[in-house]
Amino acid sequence: MRKKSEKVADDLAKVVRGDVFADVLHRVAYSTDASIYRVLPECVVAPCDLGDIVAVVKYAAAKAVPVVARGAGSGVAGESLCSGIVFDMTRYMNRIISVEDDGSAIVCEPSAALCLRDELRHFVSGEDAKLVSQNTYELMNYLYGLYKEGKLKPVRNDTMYMSLRAPASSCQKTGTGAWQSHPPKQERLLRRPDEIGTPRNDGVLDFVYHLPCHLSAVGDKQASVKLLRELCGLEIIELKAGCCGLAGTFGMQKKNYELSSQIAARLKEALEKSPIKNVLTECAACKMQIEHISDKIVRHPVKVLSEAYS
Ligand SMILES: Cc1cc2nc3c(=O)[nH]c(=O)nc-3n(C[C@H](O)[C@H](O)[C@H](O)COP(=O)(O)OP(=O)(O)OC[C@H]3O[C@@H](n4cnc5c(N)ncnc54)[C@H](O)[C@@H]3O)c2cc1C
Repeated sequence: MRKKSEKVADDLAKVVRGDVFADVLHRVAYSTDASIYRVLPECVVAPCDLGDIVAVVKYAAAKAVPVVARGAGSGVAGESLCSGIVFDMTRYMNRIISVEDDGSAIVCEPSAALCLRDELRHFVSGEDAKLVSQNTYELMNYLYGLYKEGKLKPVRNDTMYMSLRAPASSCQKTGTGAWQSHPPKQERLLRRPDEIGTPRNDGVLDFVYHLPCHLSAVGDKQASVKLLRELCGLEIIELKAGCCGLAGTFGMQKKNYELSSQIAARLKEALEKSPIKNVLTECAACKMQIEHISDKIVRHPVKVLSEAYS
């Protein structure tokens, strides 16, 4: 009896113009990515164009076979693995054909912003790749730009409700500095600093900030700190303790763990010394490392900003 993978490959070879592989070498090669997982596919298809993809997906739907697209296979969570058909997009469908809009990308991961802005054009040719590269912004830098242009209003403390035209009587402070009553919720633009995030036991909310290395290369290193200070009136203390040492999956590998930990030692010490529980950082890998080496609560600064506006 013929193996299922060969049958699938034979069927697909009749409907696609691109390449179809069902040999053991290809199946094993596409069974892993940068994650710890291993899933053996039935076959691998390198589509030439959209027509190939549509044909394969129709076949897969009819036969209830899973499909997944794969780029460089650098995903760290096994996203490009599947037990059915893997599309290898790198062989033929490896360039930007057209960009529908102005190519703008606002990216919340500093490393991804850096990749789109500075590295993409070295790997993907064409004017559209240039367009994307020229119009990519790291999220907090983008928001800080809006703020500098006066499009995000600095509303804080005593001036907060005035700019929202709330009735004066509903937003006065008591002699102790505590707020007496709130204006109607729909009239409020920003929350008061003490309403944002998880307060410490003494009721005071402070944040420490860790600067991801990649952010230094994509714009204003201070964008998040300045935004949260100036726009939300939050107290932000910068850790200034250097690299977290994780570097993507580098520090997750057993052979690199010791070196990664040594690089993170300064940061670990700074976190241990700080009584403040709330850490802000833009990078998801830094967040993972900080949570690994400390008991802090780590969030992207935009979440705090979003809470302030909620
Ligand atoms: C050393 C290292 C460091 C890293 N550092 C960072 C980091 O700092 N920040 C960060 O955000 N990530 C980081 N990553 C993760 C990695 O960069 C991303 O996951 C990567 O961009 C995924 O791209 P890829 O082409 O390898 O996609 P793959 O891993 O091949 O696929 C990822 C997902 O995208 C889908 N996909 C791929 N191509 C297509 C396509 N053409 N059409 C539709 N769907 C598609 C796949 O189905 C899958 O779900 C790191 C990874 C490594 C190995």
